[in-house]
Amino acid sequence: MYSAVTLHKVLLVFAKEDSQSNGFCWACEKANYRCSMARTPESALECFAEKLHDLVIIDHRHSRHFDAEALCRSMRAVSSSENTVIVAVVKRPDREEASVMPLINAGFNRRYVENANMMACYNELLQLEHGEVLAQFKLRAGNAIFTALEQSQEAIEITSEDQVIQYVNPAYESIMGYQQGELIGKEIIEVPKSEKNKPDLLETINSCIRKGKEWQGVYYAKKKNGDSIQQNVKITPVIGQGGKIRHYVSINRPLNDNNKSDKANERVQAESQTDIQSSKHKDRRKGSLDVRSTTSRGSDGSSQRRHSSMARIHSMTIEAPITKVINIINAAQESSPMPVAEALDRVLEILRTTELYSPQLGTKDEDPHTNDLVGGLMTDGLRRLSGNEYIFSTKHPHHIPSHLATPLSPNDIPPRIAQTMETEDSWDFDIFNLEAATMKRPLTFLGLKIFSRFGVCEYLNCPEATLRSWLQVIEANYHSSNSYHNSSHAADVLHATAYFLCKERVKQSLDPIDEVAALIAATVHDVDHPGRTNSFLCNAGSELAILYNDTAVLESHHAALAFQITTRDDKCNIFKNIERNEYRTLRQAIIDMVLATEMTKHFEHVNKFVNSINKPLAALEENGGNNDEESVKSILTSPENRILVKRMLIKCADISNPCRPLELCIEWAGRISEEYFAQTDEEKRQGLPVVMPVFDRNTCSIPKSQISFIDYFITDMFDAWDAFADFPNLMQHLDNNFKYWKGLDERKLHSLRPPPE
Ligand code: AMP
Ligand code: ZN
Repeated sequence: MYSAVTLHKVLLVFAKEDSQSNGFCWACEKANYRCSMARTPESALECFAEKLHDLVIIDHRHSRHFDAEALCRSMRAVSSSENTVIVAVVKRPDREEASVMPLINAGFNRRYVENANMMACYNELLQLEHGEVLAQFKLRAGNAIFTALEQSQEAIEITSEDQVIQYVNPAYESIMGYQQGELIGKEIIEVPKSEKNKPDLLETINSCIRKGKEWQGVYYAKKKNGDSIQQNVKITPVIGQGGKIRHYVSINRPLNDNNKSDKANERVQAESQTDIQSSKHKDRRKGSLDVRSTTSRGSDGSSQRRHSSMARIHSMTIEAPITKVINIINAAQESSPMPVAEALDRVLEILRTTELYSPQLGTKDEDPHTNDLVGGLMTDGLRRLSGNEYIFSTKHPHHIPSHLATPLSPNDIPPRIAQTMETEDSWDFDIFNLEAATMKRPLTFLGLKIFSRFGVCEYLNCPEATLRSWLQVIEANYHSSNSYHNSSHAADVLHATAYFLCKERVKQSLDPIDEVAALIAATVHDVDHPGRTNSFLCNAGSELAILYNDTAVLESHHAALAFQITTRDDKCNIFKNIERNEYRTLRQAIIDMVLATEMTKHFEHVNKFVNSINKPLAALEENGGNNDEESVKSILTSPENRILVKRMLIKCADISNPCRPLELCIEWAGRISEEYFAQTDEEKRQGLPVVMPVFDRNTCSIPKSQISFIDYFITDMFDAWDAFADFPNLMQHLDNNFKYWKGLDERKLHSLRPPPE
């Protein structure tokens, strides 16, 4: 592996040119080594001190020219010469073999019995390269790794298989208050333990790592002075010879480091432990590959450049997280028994080929409602193309219709509407009452109330009149002719969003800017929805599908149009008075949330949320960190996780209708079904592919469709959301509603409600 990227430097020390020195010169050329020749010990030492060759071959045959052993000793005296391989060329013994001991004592690594045959010289070089020289390279790489360990700010401890401390780095000693070398050779048991850990924590850790599994979690370590220090700890068993655990490596990061305010630092802290370690690993590996170029060995610039670019290419290919995972599994396979290795083969197959987050539906096995919902909601045009042209029959005005043009003042909110909104902070709030009371303008009125409750105008430094105009123009761009995707749905999603934002866990996780972004995203998330699905638009070759390349067509349009409408006219530009950077952050968060409502990514968002947030929180609880606020906070507030929380929040708000009180749930189910029916009608009329054949108004069982929708999309997502922020009332409604649909289905009823008795 090294020979491919390495141009070895060889120094030949021969007082006189002869067939032997020529043999090595030729061999160096053939092996593509850089070869220098020195004729005297002085020039040899000078040249060596400058270039620190990988290999030195000294003529030991003629003591009258120079003392080869003395020269070797002098070379060994040059600092960092220990990684150079030095060879003595000796005379062919005429009688008895002499001991090599004097040569070894002088610092030679190897004896070469004179043989000027070119191939013999070449073979010797090859053997050296793959033996001694390679070993020296590895040692040098080891040095680089130790340098990295010594420089690391994380406290690192390496123990043997029987948990005797073999190494601790300086950061470990200084954090724990021990003197240099004080811990080496001690058994872990001898080191005092903190009483702050749960009594069985050590046992849990030990039983985990003894099985060869990595343990990661929060642990209190005891400093030498008796203080406890809370650390994020990751202990990795190192499997060695014979597939047995040979060492344990423990990497410890004091938790209060998280308090550093420096942004970059926060980001690093927020990375998952695994990422931190693997990027460190990468640096170490790079160090080993680049070790030659970093030891500044003079003029060999081209070889250095070649080195570092090779290192870059190498690290690029293994940097992708999935590649890292595949490499880890490959390595584990080597020491695994056959059944495990075979199972891992199947794992690799999946990892290499499939969409990781999308469940694969066996089309035969699922019921038609699920198939159609999944087909209709989770595929886009890239998988369902058709050449049919479809142009929207009406173009939408994107401005406030005249009957809405006069701005509302607080006094303009009629008492009946104000009264309807009094219970707006309750989950059971009836949005359809508000829809009726506002004559289908619930978004403007509810928006005014909720935005004011959250202090959005104060945050954006915008006059309330601007907010009112903005809400009016956004609402005007929802299609009141859609039975489901109209401004009442937007108001409903805004209501759920506001409700979720008041939950303690959510508040702990999000900043004020996230809250503002979430409220705005909910308000605009379906603006100008045509009442047709993405698949339909793609099949119909609609303008929007063309514009957005059949990819997240509607969600892209909602987000883009929202910003166009908002910034086109100062009168409704709620972002007018915020700073550029703030605007960029807010805009990014809003776009991310609106795009997250796209159903093709449903499982990706839910799974990422569970894996990055729910599981780590649960692990913390299990490890006794229940009241460990620092660790909880670091999970909740990392920038990456805040994004996942926001996506989950808007997704849950968007499809929360199955968790509403039964009457509301039934109304929403009727509305979405009607919108799907209208789409099927139109597909048939236009000769387009029918995306969801079960949603045919003549044959559809609404209860079945709702059961499928809940089973497939809702249950797991709300289980996760409930586990995160605790929504017993929503889960109760969901249960209740599911039973309702089941009841109708068992009675073979297809409609929304049972017929009157
Ligand atoms: P959005 O278009 O942003 O509202 O995304 C949510 C998706 O879930 C939409 O495509 C809806 O059609 C679908 N959806 C929401 N509620 C239901 C429901 N009760 N039954 C079936 N599909 C639903
Ligand atoms: Zn929606």
